[in-house]
Amino acid sequence: MNVLGEIKKSLWNGRMAHAYILEAPAGETRDRLMTNILQEILCRNPNLEQRPCGLCEACRRVAAGSHEDVIYMKKSKLEEGKTKTNKVTYVMRDTEPFMDRLRLNPYGERNIGVIPDADDLKEDVQNKILKTLEEPYPGTVFFLVAENRNNLLPTIQSRCVLLRETEEPDVAETSALEEIWNQNYFFQYRKMVDKKIKTADDALKFLDVIEREAHKEHRLETVLRIEETRKDILGEFHMGGMNWKYALKRLFLEVRE
Ligand SMILES: [Zn+2]
Repeated sequence: MNVLGEIKKSLWNGRMAHAYILEAPAGETRDRLMTNILQEILCRNPNLEQRPCGLCEACRRVAAGSHEDVIYMKKSKLEEGKTKTNKVTYVMRDTEPFMDRLRLNPYGERNIGVIPDADDLKEDVQNKILKTLEEPYPGTVFFLVAENRNNLLPTIQSRCVLLRETEEPDVAETSALEEIWNQNYFFQYRKMVDKKIKTADDALKFLDVIEREAHKEHRLETVLRIEETRKDILGEFHMGGMNWKYALKRLFLEVRE
């Protein structure tokens, strides 16, 4: 997927999602991509094809990190016992200034909330954020920037549109994988899984394909189950994942039967 193209398209259609996960390895490339996404949304150039222009005031402010409608969640210095350490991470109280600011009216069209390093969010903090994602302030768009979306709760993942730079999927391969999922009967599905999916990597690729379809059709419950299955296969905290064949079979029985 071309991430900027995807954002451009949803601006064209007037169909921005409430929340996105930008999944990419941490580093300059990801930072630049996030900046470009924000510029794409906020750029003042009326010609959508020439956005982001990089030259208008909005684009320059985004690049400088000083755009008034872009609100970043900030980490706290961690206090362990009574000694302050240099470690920074997100704690519960970090959500408050972030959320309070997002509740105010934007200067321009919309507020944009960005959570950098969302992988570092602990479960309780994620649950707090989840409430806002469930009932978003009108017009607000969230970006959770993460190395691996599976570090986020499945409930968060299911409410976000995934943005990930990937090579265009091979059409033949994709339709072969879709065919497996489109079997009407479990025994046929089981047979095809045994024949066509040989490794855990294949299994994860298969999940990517069927998740994309489920997202397109807004079948959130299915997306959620697929995310859970991916987590089962990867193994929570790398404690040795579930047998992927078993996981795929269970998924079909849960979703399709
Ligand atoms: Zn611009």
